[in-house]
Amino acid sequence: MRFEELNIIAPILKALKEENYTEPTSIQEQAIPLLLDKNDIMASAQTGTGKTAAFAIPILQHLENEKSNSKKIKSLILTPTRELAIQIGESFTTYGKYTSIKNTVIFGGVNQNKQTAAIRNGVDVLIATPGRLLDLMNQGFINLKDIQYFVLDEADRMLDMGFIHDIRKVIAVLPPKRQSLFFSATMPDTIVELSRKILNNPKKIAV
Ligand code: AMP
Repeated sequence: MRFEELNIIAPILKALKEENYTEPTSIQEQAIPLLLDKNDIMASAQTGTGKTAAFAIPILQHLENEKSNSKKIKSLILTPTRELAIQIGESFTTYGKYTSIKNTVIFGGVNQNKQTAAIRNGVDVLIATPGRLLDLMNQGFINLKDIQYFVLDEADRMLDMGFIHDIRKVIAVLPPKRQSLFFSATMPDTIVELSRKILNNPKKIAV
């Protein structure tokens, strides 16, 4: 299978070619068509499988096709660590370099001023760790009422790190009409239960 067969738009294909990605990985081959069709997905996939591109490509494509000029945050990616958040931000920047879609990354442990300035300038995609996200929401810098695409990345690790209450608070303010993507390396009962609160009629994928 080639990326050209997945109905990916030209500006994203061009960026993938420049990265020397020739073939989609298994998760990409399974997830991209489902996501372009606006399905929710529940995917069991580890880091290293290419899962970041599996969600970043369809989100970039939806947003680029919608061509909204608004400065509202339209997609939220929640991830457990600063390192993962930075990597995901770099992936959106790389795959989206020939699109108009802007992203920014927020995480704790550093001064918030650069992060709030980036948000004020307008971003389409926000990649966040839970604590800093709630902090900036509580201070009024972030509003999630226009989120159309929501990703919960590494859900099992989030749970292990004690983020469950934070995640519930975030989910509670997301608009119900949205596409949601749920990624977890393992699927214990608590994770399955959490996924039921987030997902609407999800397609299941395992790699
Ligand atoms: P991830 O699982 O998202 O952390 O991705 C793991 C690594 O695989 C990253 O360094 C990506 O740049 C790389 N990668 C993702 N998709 C592909 C692909 N289709 N072809 C080659 N490399 C890829």
